[in-house]
Amino acid sequence: MLKFPAEIFALLFPDNCRVCDVALKEVSRIPVCRKCLAAPAPIEAEYFCLSCRTPFANSYPLDDSGLCGLCRLGLNRFDAAYSFGSYQDTLRKLIHLFKYGRIQTLARPLGALLGASIPAGERFDAVVPMPLHWWRRWRRGFNQAELLAREVARRCGVGVVDAVSRKRATAPQAGLSNSRRRDNVAGAFEVRRPERVRGMSVALVDDVLTTGATANACAATLKRAGVRRVTLLVLARVDRRYSGGIAA
Ligand SMILES: [Zn+2]
Ligand SMILES: [Zn+2]
Repeated sequence: MLKFPAEIFALLFPDNCRVCDVALKEVSRIPVCRKCLAAPAPIEAEYFCLSCRTPFANSYPLDDSGLCGLCRLGLNRFDAAYSFGSYQDTLRKLIHLFKYGRIQTLARPLGALLGASIPAGERFDAVVPMPLHWWRRWRRGFNQAELLAREVARRCGVGVVDAVSRKRATAPQAGLSNSRRRDNVAGAFEVRRPERVRGMSVALVDDVLTTGATANACAATLKRAGVRRVTLLVLARVDRRYSGGIAA
C-alpha cells in the first residue's frame, strides 16, 4: 500500500481554514482561506507616541512634543518602532497558527504585512531577529522572528544577522508588571561578535510587542555593542486601547 507523507496528503485533500473553518477550495501550502489572509488591517490611531508609536485612546499620556511616558523618561532604547496591526482578531489567530501551530508557510504572508509597515525611505544595513532561548527554539523547531526577519531582509535587499543571543531563559513575561518585566529581561541578551553589527543601522524584528520590555533590553544590548541605530519592527502590538490599562 502506498503511503503518502502527511504534507502531500494535505496538499491533495485540502482541509478547512484554520481561522474561520470554511472549507478550503484551493490547494495551498497555507491552510488559511484568502479572506482570512487578507483580513488583518493596519493599526489606526488618532493619538500615538511620535517615537515608539504606541497608540493611545486620547492625548493624555502624550507630552507637548508628542512623546509617551516611557520615551520621555528615556526607557525606550530603540530609535524608532513600527508595527503592522493590533494583536487581536484574525492577526492574533494567524500569529498563533504560525508560532504554536508551527505553520511555517505563514512566514511569507505575515512577512509581507510586516514589510508593509516599514515607511518608504527607511533604510537598514541588516535585519536582526529577536532571539529565542536555544531550549525554546529547539522545542518549537524554529524561531518565528527569524523567519519573519528573512522575509523583511529579502524585501529590503539586505542580510539577516543573527547578532543577539539569549544568555538565559527568561520566565514568561505574561502576568508580570511592567517593572518586573524589565527586571526579568535585564541582562538576558548578549552580542557575541559585535564586529558584525558595529556602526550599523539595524531592524530588530519580532512577532509581538507587549510592553516593549524585551525589545528594549535587546535594543540596549545592541547599542552597547556599537549598533548605531535600532528600529524595532513588529507584526502586532498589544493594543492597550482595547484592554483597559495604559502603560504610560
Ligand atoms: Zn478563513
Ligand atoms: Zn513612546
